[in-house]
Formats: sequence, structure tokens, C-alpha cells
Amino acid sequence: MPKSTDADLDPVSIAAGKFEPKLAAAIEHAIELVKDRIDSKALSAALEAGDTAGAIKLLNIEQALAEAFAGVGIEADVSSVSETLVAAFQAGANAGLAKVPKQLAAELTFDLLNPDAVAFLKTYEFGLIKDISEGTAAAIGAVIQEAYQGLPPAKAAKKIVSLIGLTKKQQRAVANFQNALIAGDPASLRRILSAELRDKRFDRTIQAVIDEGGVLSAEQIQRMTDRYYERFLRYRAHMIARTETIRAAVKGQQLLWEQAVASGKLDPAKVQRRWVTAGDERVCPICAPLDGEKAGLYEDFPEGDPPAHPMCRCGLVLDFD
Ligand SMILES: [Zn+2]
Repeated sequence: MPKSTDADLDPVSIAAGKFEPKLAAAIEHAIELVKDRIDSKALSAALEAGDTAGAIKLLNIEQALAEAFAGVGIEADVSSVSETLVAAFQAGANAGLAKVPKQLAAELTFDLLNPDAVAFLKTYEFGLIKDISEGTAAAIGAVIQEAYQGLPPAKAAKKIVSLIGLTKKQQRAVANFQNALIAGDPASLRRILSAELRDKRFDRTIQAVIDEGGVLSAEQIQRMTDRYYERFLRYRAHMIARTETIRAAVKGQQLLWEQAVASGKLDPAKVQRRWVTAGDERVCPICAPLDGEKAGLYEDFPEGDPPAHPMCRCGLVLDFD
């Protein structure tokens, strides 16, 4: 099968792709800001006092993320998550313009301040924040449990900060990674060497312990675990960015069409939306059967609109009767 090129992709997906690295960087940056804001001493004191509610309240992840997404505390030369999402949304609408007949395109403008557009962006961003903060809250619960079982409060506080931003499953992967390093036996260390997101610069050190015996210092273990966490965070930010820029762009295009209907320039009865996949070997089993499927402008696709799954690269086009 031919390799994928931009030519195989829907213009809206291409537009979304341009914002992907920017959004990934903005998400990583926002999570860093949230971590920087945490008062570890106060957190450790709350854990020491067994004040679970106080500890969670102190972290206030959702609020901190909302502010960081909005750009509070961000350097002037970095785009915030909010700005980047709005830009992807706008770019989706602009790319959508290129796909309608020229005559219609000349009459259309996309209104970013339209109430539907504003409402979408607000709800949407809130959902994204909730998604990230809920995963974090689950992990915090688990660490607080460990603190009750004897993990020193200062260590527990540090552990909480070091897990922020990952999904529960990813947090477990990081914890298992660290436990394998601590165990230090050859079988555990070999598992480390097969962890895909490990920092390979440590491989020689680990291989030496397997071959010649010896132990890793607490400091080495911490450094290896920190790097592993950072790589997971980068991977997650990238995954969110890929998925969410497509979502924002497809929605921008959809609202462009809906605005055209509202202004009487497009008759919804005369158009159908058609699902287009990237059309190459990377199209997954979820999306391949959807290729070419049609739905009305206000009708649902069986999988909802693209993205149908994380990292989906599909788009929609408008067919005119
Ligand atoms: Zn897809």
C-alpha cells in the first residue's frame, strides 16, 4: 500500500495537524505550571494529619489546570492550551471553506463569537480539564492510601506531584517501573529494559547491574523514574493533542456549515456529510468501515463525529445533491 502523504488527508485534518505540536507543548507546559504551584510542605502536613479532604482541596487540580489552560502564569511567547484550541477550531472552519463550492464559500464567513461556537469551546475545554484532573485525583487517592500504610508524608507529597497529568493506567506503569528498579533483581531489571518509553541512556547502567551484580542507588532510581514519567507525560500530551486538534477542527467545520444554514445560504436537505479516512495502511479497524458512510448535517454517525478514537485521522466532507 502507498505511504500516506498530505494529499491523502482531508484539508481539515491537515489544518488540525499544524496545531498538534503546539497543543502538545501547551498541555505539557500547563501541567508543569500546575506542579509548580503545589505547596509540598502544606501537602505533606495535610497528609501527616491524615486530612485527605484537605490534601485534595489543597491541590485543587481542576482549578489550577483551568487557569493554566487559560494562560495564567504562562510566558508571553508560549501559546496557551485555550488559544491553541481556538486556533485549531478556526483553522478547521477555514479549511472547511475550501471544501464547499466556490460560489457558496465566497458568501460564507465563520463567526468565532457565534454563541454556539463560544458554548462549544467552553464546554469542550471543561471536559478536557475534567478528564486530566480526574485521572490525577484517582492517583492521589491511591498515594494517600499508601501514606496511611506508612509511606512518609514528605515522600507521599513528592510522589503525588510526580504523578500529575498521567492517566491512572500510566501512573500504574510508572509505579511498576519504579518498583522493578527498587527490586533490582535481574528479572525485574530485564523488564525495565523492555519498557518502551524508558530513557535508553540508562540501559548500560542497568545492563551492568544485571551482568555484574550490584545495586542502583536511591538517587539513580529516582532519576530513572522521573525520566520515565516525563516521557509518559510527553506521550500523553502528544496523544491528547493529536485527538483534540482533530476534534476542534472538525467541530469548527461543522459550525461553519450550521452557520451557513442559519444565514439561509445552505439548505440542509440538499447536503450530506461523508466520512473520509486517511485512506492508507494506518487506517484502523474502527474507521475503515466508516469510510464513505453518509449522515445528514444534523444526523449522528454511528461513532459520532471524528475523532472516532484517540489518534484518529479522519475527517468529514459535505456532498451536495
Ligand atoms: Zn479515524
